[in-house]
Amino acid sequence: MSAAIRTEVLVVGAGPAGIAAATAAAEGDCKVIVLDDNRKAGGQIWREGSVAVQEQEKDSKKRRALERLQRSGAELRTRRTVFAATAGFVDALQETVAGSVTERIEFEQLILATGARERWLPFPGWTLPGVFGAGGLQALVRSGFPVKGKRVVVAGTGPLLLAVAAHLASDGAFVSAIVEQAPLGKLMKFAVSLWRQPGKWIQGARYRASVGKTAYRTGCWVVEAIAADHGQELRAVRLTDGKRTWTEACDLLACGYHLVPNTEIAELLGCTFEGDAVRVDADQRTSIAHVFCVGEPTGIAGIDAALAEGEVAGLACAGKSRDSLSARVITERAFGNRLQRTFALRGELRSLAKADTIVCRCEDVRFADVRGHAGWSDIKLQTRCGMGPCQGRVCGPAIDFVLGCKPASVRQPLYPVPLQALCSSLTEMNEI
Ligand SMILES: Cc1cc2nc3c(=O)[nH]c(=O)nc-3n(C[C@H](O)[C@H](O)[C@H](O)COP(=O)(O)OP(=O)(O)OC[C@H]3O[C@@H](n4cnc5c(N)ncnc54)[C@H](O)[C@@H]3O)c2cc1C
Repeated sequence: MSAAIRTEVLVVGAGPAGIAAATAAAEGDCKVIVLDDNRKAGGQIWREGSVAVQEQEKDSKKRRALERLQRSGAELRTRRTVFAATAGFVDALQETVAGSVTERIEFEQLILATGARERWLPFPGWTLPGVFGAGGLQALVRSGFPVKGKRVVVAGTGPLLLAVAAHLASDGAFVSAIVEQAPLGKLMKFAVSLWRQPGKWIQGARYRASVGKTAYRTGCWVVEAIAADHGQELRAVRLTDGKRTWTEACDLLACGYHLVPNTEIAELLGCTFEGDAVRVDADQRTSIAHVFCVGEPTGIAGIDAALAEGEVAGLACAGKSRDSLSARVITERAFGNRLQRTFALRGELRSLAKADTIVCRCEDVRFADVRGHAGWSDIKLQTRCGMGPCQGRVCGPAIDFVLGCKPASVRQPLYPVPLQALCSSLTEMNEI
């Protein structure tokens, strides 16, 4: 590993929250480094797109935020995955054309802005080619995956479904149905609650209008993805509203059950949690000295919360006032709480997996294998569930929901790291 790099403020994650945090801290005269595992800054919602997407985004919030970040003097280091963290420094893996190398960055203050990922739930056929996560398919389409003329069912839960359906339709897909598991009553209540935030209501209405002819089925969910005869290709999905079951033909299924915060680094550092979210104070400080947390890891609440919280933490690192921002953070957090209540998963989704349904795709572990164990550690030891490349990021939240077994602990390296890179990193860690 090369010699450690030093900075006053280190931001992990260059999504909207990390960009806002880094910009505010750097504008407040701090030396700032931002790390992100993607090729470019932007996170999930501002993910780099094809030329056509970039063209549409010319005048967007994203462009303004990125330009301000660049002007602020913060140093952006992309293609770096943070795989280890302790008080005072993190280790990141950098993929280069010549291979992978590790990099240690020492910090005085750390801002965690690691975002969220989709929640997948296992059901028969969910591993068939043609079945994607909803946000995953959107990301693929942004990088050029063709969906023109394809029949797509968008299913699961959360506001992401409408955004994804609108995006796929604008790329020429025929979105035949949007299937939302939350009941109509909850959704109506949520829509009414948006009167205080008309911007969000208008955005939702725009998405809905852009898939105007598509059926939006509430209180429904996917029970099975069906392959073509003798084949492995998706041909249809079986849907239910709990009373009747029917089949919808499709070429692709985009299915995601809201989001799960990426909190592994915060867990490694020993931050206190409230449920699944990192607990923070009004300055976004965690329970660990000099460690802040912003955006989705503090609770799923969307881009506006991410931007406001990022700015608060950046200002706090620079010793500046955040007064006018506090109200914005409180409003957006309240929105996040309403999201959680509205899109809470229904109990019926716990019984979708059959005995032979794969629950851990990395290690090919079936549902029958994980039932009847004493807890997550037992499941892991007996079946290797959660021990593959994703390190339980996919199967962990699914098993937590279905069986009530929460992954017990987080260990470094958080991501697979080539042995040579890992050994050099651990040796240096022990020497300090
Ligand atoms: C798949 C997906 C698609 C979405 N699509 C939409 C949409 O279309 N419309 C919408 O309104 N909202 C969408 N959202 C929600 C939206 O992304 C968030 O509300 C918003 O981006 C939150 O910003 P953030 O900065 O907290 O997190 P993110 O935007 O997720 O940014 C976090 C960044 O941290 C990086 N990171 C995480 N861990 C590490 C690590 N260990 N090392 C280095 N880098 C790391 C991630 O790669 C990412 O770039 C989507 C979310 C997901 C998960």
